[in-house]
Amino acid sequence: MVRIRLEHIDKVFGKKGREFKALDDISFEIEDNSFFGILGASGAGKTTIMRIIAGLETPTRGAIYFNDQVAASDGKDIIPVEDRNVGMVFQNWALYPHMTNYENIAFPLKSKHWSPEDIHRRITELARVLEISETLEKRPGEISGGQQQRVALARALAKNPSLLLLDEPFSNLDANRRDDARSLVRRVQEEYGITAVIVSHDPSDIFSLARKVAVIHSGRLIQIDTPGEIYDRPRNVRVAGSLGEINLLRGSTSLDGERLVIRVADARIPVPVAASDETWDREVTVGIRPEDLATENDVTNLGGSSEMVKFGTFEVDASNYVHGSFVVSMKVGEERLNVLSRLPVSPGSRLTVYVNASKIKLFDAQSGDLIP
Ligand code: ATP
Repeated sequence: MVRIRLEHIDKVFGKKGREFKALDDISFEIEDNSFFGILGASGAGKTTIMRIIAGLETPTRGAIYFNDQVAASDGKDIIPVEDRNVGMVFQNWALYPHMTNYENIAFPLKSKHWSPEDIHRRITELARVLEISETLEKRPGEISGGQQQRVALARALAKNPSLLLLDEPFSNLDANRRDDARSLVRRVQEEYGITAVIVSHDPSDIFSLARKVAVIHSGRLIQIDTPGEIYDRPRNVRVAGSLGEINLLRGSTSLDGERLVIRVADARIPVPVAASDETWDREVTVGIRPEDLATENDVTNLGGSSEMVKFGTFEVDASNYVHGSFVVSMKVGEERLNVLSRLPVSPGSRLTVYVNASKIKLFDAQSGDLIP
């Protein structure tokens, strides 16, 4: 269908003297018929990248290619929006409230002068795939959020786009609807063999759909990789922090014989792998995900992994119920540590915590970069 390439894209907003650089030297490629994700916090520049790909915004510098054709270059649009053949789903779905759902989906086809018969055929097919046949004669205000989202998806897919752009498409859905919506989007992308791009600040959206992910921070590309690589080897603390819960603790490293030892306050974690030269005798930020920690009550259930080593015994501050388990918050010196527990634990009690030492990520304390 279509392969997209961004080369050294800058986007500057505002007038002279009050300029704001929203994108700074962004380059990446989106393969044909792939699902690509752009992850970043609010204001990172994700929507601006989408708008540049769609042709709704012109890059100040750099070029964008659709296959090998230049679509925009150095402040000039070469392929206009209407010729890029892009379908978009926005965060708020942007459906026309006074039209029926049928008319909403038909809208882009009417503006392309499709015949009423062709429009009818296309909408009937899309409504079947997206399971919204029963809602077509209603208006958007008369159906559920999940159905509105599917109507917006049907409208985006109506004119057979070569590229589907999804900008935070699930953020208006409640948590249990989101999983269904993600599965549907994945199925549609596969069924229609379309190139798709999703932007979100929510790592669950990105990880459940994208095969390749670009992480953006303050208008810069920080990392581009498969979801697995990004999760296992986040390039710096910022990337690690954008991927969901992670404990980031101040610590230091030393050597004990051949082995690395990580210190956090008074606690000492022996790491059961040989230390590389870069890793020892330095100030670090220690990154540990809650799923790589276990309390004394749960440690045997976690497979009794030989990599689980004792971290220390700490006082419990609080225990909150979240998504089927308890998040136990403890103090390790001045640092805070969150551990998942199957059982509630009383604040004030002391609990021994174990850690899967091979999963600990070490970042340089100053630069925040991952230490290999
Ligand atoms: P969100 O998730 O909140 O939508 P985002 O990552 O999509 O954030 P963008 O909408 O791309 O971020 O915005 C990136 C930066 O550019 C922000 O600081 C924003 O205020 C700024 N910006 C975006 N559009 C314009 C504009 N038309 N004029 C001036 N500044 C803009």
